[in-house]
Parts: sequence; C-alpha cells; structure tokens
Amino acid sequence: MERRTFVKMAFGGGILGLLLGMEGSSEAGDGLIRPPGAVPEEMFLSTCARCGKCAEICPLGCIRIAHGEQGLAIGTPYIVPQEGYCDLCLKCIDVCAAGALKPVEKEKVRMGLAEIDKDICLARKGEDCRVCHAACPFYDRAIKLEDYKYPQVDPDYCTGCGRCENVCIASPRKAVTVKPRRE
Ligand code: SF4
Ligand code: SF4
Ligand code: SF4
Repeated sequence: MERRTFVKMAFGGGILGLLLGMEGSSEAGDGLIRPPGAVPEEMFLSTCARCGKCAEICPLGCIRIAHGEQGLAIGTPYIVPQEGYCDLCLKCIDVCAAGALKPVEKEKVRMGLAEIDKDICLARKGEDCRVCHAACPFYDRAIKLEDYKYPQVDPDYCTGCGRCENVCIASPRKAVTVKPRRE
C-alpha cells in the first residue's frame, strides 16, 4: 500500500481523532509554516485529508509533505522558505476540498512572519544590501527601510511568503527567517 494511501485511510478512519486526544499531541506541526489560508493549527491537523493535492498543484513546488519525524503532522503540507518560497498564487487553496486551506486575499495571508537578525543583516554591517527589501512582493510595506538603509519587517503587512528569507544573501546563516504565525 502506498504511504499516502495509508495515511489517508488512517486519518479518514478516525484514528486522528483518537490520537489527538493523546497528551502532548497539540505540539504536532507547531514549527511548520503552512500553505496560505490554513485554518488554525489544531483544526488543520484534524481537517487536512493528507491528499497532497496542494503540493501537486503548486507551480513553484514549494510545498513539502511532512514525514514521520513530525508526529501527528505526518502527511500534512508545509513550506521551507530557504528551499522554496510561496508566490501567493493561491492555487493550493482552490484544490483543497477538505477545507484545511480557506480562501483568503493575498494581502491577508498570514502564514508566517519574517524576522531580521540585526547581528547578521549585511546592511547593518555597512554593506549596501537591500535584497530582501527589493524582493518582497509587498514592496516598501512588509519590509521598510529604516534610515533608507536598514530593512525592517512590518508585521501588519508581512504575509510570511518567505521570499525575503529565500533571497537573503547573508551566509552561512540567513539574516531573515520566517516563523509560523498562528492566529
Ligand atoms: S499559493 Fe501558490 S506558490 Fe504558494 S504554496 Fe500555494 S500553490 Fe504554492
Ligand atoms: S489539499 Fe488540503 S487536504 Fe489535501 S493535503 Fe493539501 S491541505 Fe491537506
Ligand atoms: S517580508 Fe518577507 S515574508 Fe513578509 S511578505 Fe515580504 S517577502 Fe514575504
């Protein structure tokens, strides 16, 4: 039996509900950035059908599927911005028949929140770097320039799409990281 078929059967058969009653299970998937429009995490774990259709449709191939190490989040979709950002096309929402991804306007997506580490940011070290500021799809709103030089994230506009983290040229560690935003 294919892994995806097994996961689908297991979760569709109510095993998930049983497991969600287990102590500590609410921590499953806590660190994962979900695709746009995801319902709150606990509900997401019990709603997502683990069908993988969102990952299949994603034109950028940025949706990954969680494996065993993610506990009860196994089979659910998530995004790793360093490897692939989301361009907010919202096609994944269109194919989610289970209702785990709900329609949302691009500007209102809150899949995560970017954070800039000032100790690593090249602009703060005197370099003329504005790569994240230039790449952000919400130009000069989600990332603004303090004193015309230093990138700063505005949580009121940041969608968590991950493009800034993906393009950040600081090395070996990125100066921008996106953390999941649970609202
Ligand atoms: S919105 Fe588009 S790019 Fe983003 S995860 Fe969904 S399908 Fe992929
Ligand atoms: S399409 Fe919806 S139900 Fe299917 S894996 Fe993606 S989020 Fe889960
Ligand atoms: S600041 Fe980064 S994560 Fe937020 S919207 Fe801009 S590119 Fe996307």
